[in-house]
Amino acid sequence: MISVFGSANMDLVAYVAQAPRPGETVTGREFRTVPGGKGANQAIAAARAGAGVAFLGAVGDDAFGPGLRAALAEAGVDTAGLRVVPGPSGVAHIVVEDGGDNSIIVVPGANGAVTGPAGRDAETIARSDALLLQLELPMDAVVAAAHVPRGVSSRAEVILTPAPAAPLPAELLEAVDLIVPNEHEAAALTGRDDPRDALEALLGLVPEAVVTLGARGALYGSRDGTRLREAAVPVRAVDTTAAGDTFAGALAVARTEGAGPARALRFASAAAALSVQREGASTSMPHRHEIDRLLEGL
Ligand code: ATP
Repeated sequence: MISVFGSANMDLVAYVAQAPRPGETVTGREFRTVPGGKGANQAIAAARAGAGVAFLGAVGDDAFGPGLRAALAEAGVDTAGLRVVPGPSGVAHIVVEDGGDNSIIVVPGANGAVTGPAGRDAETIARSDALLLQLELPMDAVVAAAHVPRGVSSRAEVILTPAPAAPLPAELLEAVDLIVPNEHEAAALTGRDDPRDALEALLGLVPEAVVTLGARGALYGSRDGTRLREAAVPVRAVDTTAAGDTFAGALAVARTEGAGPARALRFASAAAALSVQREGASTSMPHRHEIDRLLEGL
């Protein structure tokens, strides 16, 4: 079982020829509300990829809260640990221009009210095989969650997606087993632009690291000396939104099923390659049978 302690946002996406300048009003072409947030995305990705998943986080008592819960539940995610707090849910206000440029305002809302897991939430983490963390919740809460497995001698491995990029406190790093940044986050964390150098620097911080490289695949390293490079599955990408979250969720599933690093990378790459061929975030995440079928054909 996998626990995801993270954010849930409603993405409010407006499609427009050109984004308005200050003071200007423009008429958009289309509007969509899409459940998102890195935590919810990873939970849905892991559930679709075949794991039992519990989501721990918060939504507001507004109209978006039930929609976010329903999206998780529909994917088979256990939402008993999804609190309802007074005030608005987290939202990402996204303007997509015809040229493909987008601008995004994230208002954390209920995500900003999440505190370190206690009681039943801590027990859920303790019972898990993996705990997935990202950085869209208050840092103190993320640090507290990362320490739950060690505090109770749980076998849960702690997997951190360090996004959005932020300086990582030592108390967080000491509790992380595997870090999964994209190449930009890896560079921001280590000051090394070359992803291979960044990978080596990350292994000075945590025992295992995966640096994702978009269409160029992913690098893996472990303190035991293993180094791997996994090419991306060659596909025609139409929308890479949440490729990273799909990759992280699927990677966790493979590891909790006992796959070694090479097989886990391959499984995650296949899941992410399927997701980039479809539009949307959670809507694009593949089901297990689709991942298995793609892997059989490779
Ligand atoms: P996002 O922020 O869009 O969620 P990310 O920047 O966190 O993504 P990426 O490194 O872009 O993550 O992609 C994660 C993984 O998804 C890659 O390692 C690769 O396996 C897969 N992937 C991404 N883009 C493509 C593509 N164009 N074709 C095939 N696979 C892709």
